Amino acid sequence: MSQWPEWLPLNTALQPLSPYGAPQVPADAVLNTNENPFPLSAQLAEAIGKRVESAARNLNRYPDRDATKLRTGLAQFINGLSGTSVTEENIWAANGSNEIIQSLFLAFGEKCAIGFTPSYSMHPLIARVTQTPWIDGRRREDFTLDIDLAKKEIAQNNPSLTFITTPNNPTGSSVTIDEIEELAESVPGLLVIDEAYAEFSDEISAVSLIDKYPNVVVIRTMSKAFSFAGVRLGYLVADKSVIDALFLVRLPYHLSTLTQVAAEVALEYRDELLGNVAALVANRTWVEGELKALGLDVIPSKANFLLFSGFDIPAPTLWKSLLDAGVLIRDVGLSGYLRVTIGSEAENTLFIQALTKIINESRLKTTSQDK
Ligand SMILES: *Cc1c(COP(=O)(O)O)cnc(C)c1O
Repeated sequence: MSQWPEWLPLNTALQPLSPYGAPQVPADAVLNTNENPFPLSAQLAEAIGKRVESAARNLNRYPDRDATKLRTGLAQFINGLSGTSVTEENIWAANGSNEIIQSLFLAFGEKCAIGFTPSYSMHPLIARVTQTPWIDGRRREDFTLDIDLAKKEIAQNNPSLTFITTPNNPTGSSVTIDEIEELAESVPGLLVIDEAYAEFSDEISAVSLIDKYPNVVVIRTMSKAFSFAGVRLGYLVADKSVIDALFLVRLPYHLSTLTQVAAEVALEYRDELLGNVAALVANRTWVEGELKALGLDVIPSKANFLLFSGFDIPAPTLWKSLLDAGVLIRDVGLSGYLRVTIGSEAENTLFIQALTKIINESRLKTTSQDK
């Protein structure tokens, strides 16, 4: 892998890497990055516009470095959802949860980090970029997390960061709060719970554990259920000492004034923005039923996507045929599996229609070859 010129002093650890690149191509149904398919209402767009306009007069100044107003709003939001009593001192806000993950590695990644594969591909990728040794822990055959095995692997490797994604991406399956508590009791270092899809799940959030287990830190985002991916706002809920440590690694003024005000307005409109979650969960049930009716296997999901298998076409071929039919889904690199985000009803119908046609045609071909 030496497409890099020899004179370029690129870090050795980076030389074999490729940049993150979920395809951004036009399609009739965009079901590949787990975004919320519903656009913001005209009223909300206008409210953001007004707030941005008045903030724009002060853009000669740096933003509030500590994003105090936004962090206070996020603390209230979390307390409303989970009955906790966190304050802004327990909240860190950044440009997407990916920046949070990077900051965690920068502050706490000296030893090593462990996650359980398959899971969110950015955890190991950001680990590499920050020169944090990464351990790929194992899951069961059906991709559920085996807590006893996890505890064993954690004990063997003594990581400073243990990543659990729940509901997990790309599988959609979740870990119970009791299992997280069991891990919290035994892991060395920090137990990082990535709850990017928590709003879609009926499991209790791990933010409820932070009081008792200050080593539990919880990553949340406005990118998925909150319908706000374009703004780039992720946040961390954690013990105050964790937040204080993140101040050491953040870049000065990392969160722009425009991001802060847009996210503040979004919190005021939280009911509207989260109002589609129930509809998406119902649509998930519908898509799951349709996939099963096609004879496919679907992993039970508590998120806004489904990982399915059981098709006899290679996953990259099926992915391409769907794209040719105007439906963009995700090949997550697991042989025999594809992941589809739950979209609007129209998008889901388009996906199921295209998939049905491709699968039926391939089955016809196989039967005529058999004759
Ligand atoms: C989508 C996703 C994120 C979100 O990243 P942002 O930077 O907040 O957009 C984080 N974790 C997981 C597991 C995800 O799937």
